[in-house]
Amino acid sequence: MASRGAEVPTGPAVPRTAKGGHGLAADDSAARRGAPPGPPGGPDPHRPPPDGLRATPPVPGDPGPVPGSPGGGPGPLRPSPDDPGFPAARAAAAGSLAELDAVVPACRACPRLVAWREEVARTKRAAFRDWTYWGRPVTGFGPPDATLAVVGLAPAAHGGNRTGRAFTGDPSGDVLYAALHSLGLASRPVAEHPGDGLALRGVRITMPVHCAPPDNRPTTGERDTCRPWLARELELLRPTLRTIVVLGAFGWQATLPVLGRAGWRLPRPRPAFGHGVEVPVEDPLGDRPVRLFGCYHPSRRNIFTGRLTPAMLRDVLGRAAADAGLEPRT
Ligand code: SF4
Repeated sequence: MASRGAEVPTGPAVPRTAKGGHGLAADDSAARRGAPPGPPGGPDPHRPPPDGLRATPPVPGDPGPVPGSPGGGPGPLRPSPDDPGFPAARAAAAGSLAELDAVVPACRACPRLVAWREEVARTKRAAFRDWTYWGRPVTGFGPPDATLAVVGLAPAAHGGNRTGRAFTGDPSGDVLYAALHSLGLASRPVAEHPGDGLALRGVRITMPVHCAPPDNRPTTGERDTCRPWLARELELLRPTLRTIVVLGAFGWQATLPVLGRAGWRLPRPRPAFGHGVEVPVEDPLGDRPVRLFGCYHPSRRNIFTGRLTPAMLRDVLGRAAADAGLEPRT
């Protein structure tokens, strides 16, 4: 797979629509990524071709060379999407979430994950054989003025890696979006594909690792390579962000260093993950702290074993939404 891969998306970046307040405005990533097989309008030009052949940059939304960045500079010296320095250089240069979301899908910095996501997209699961899998990094989903961030782990191989949207098309997403909908934070209870009209109110869902990993287990090296994307995303959300819910211990371990890197001051000793824990995090650069909530990940295993029930998830999300000023439905 090393010489074969998804193409870098082409075409102009499509900025998200910044809405005032937190109405249920449709996220325009649906239009950018297109719908699954079936809807009218023909194939999505941003999806990989069936043979997985790779095109050449330019990257949509790419702001160009980043002077002074690692590997930055003019023309060929700048990091390519295959370079481990690409996330750090390109994330730091993104001036908006729309720009960040346009660049992330081009990333190929982790060879193992690139090979896996594209292998899965090529071989598919039988139930989804008619789909053209996304097969690329999955960006965050939700409005750019969100006050609540929900941080998961990584896309599922046949979920986000298939549909191109976070927690969309997999059992974890079924539980998560049902809870958000019951709280009045999602326009529909089920996330099926980017053209399904789902919109979030005041919530941005994202992840510390943007590519589907084998066995849902990214390595620490992959986690660290991907870290700049989440760090920049949280920095860009900072003006409105009040609350963060982290799903699962891995997400917790990955997110705390990101917060530190983005300038938030964590308690010492570093707080341990637990379901329902709440941790105030100082913001030396702002006028208010953010509050961090821990929550078990709504993985199939956790739901099947009863470790996490839909009621437990709704309870944590509801407390976090209230903390974020979203006035959730009771
Ligand atoms: S996991 Fe992150 S850093 Fe690695 S290839 Fe995917 S988007 Fe890039």
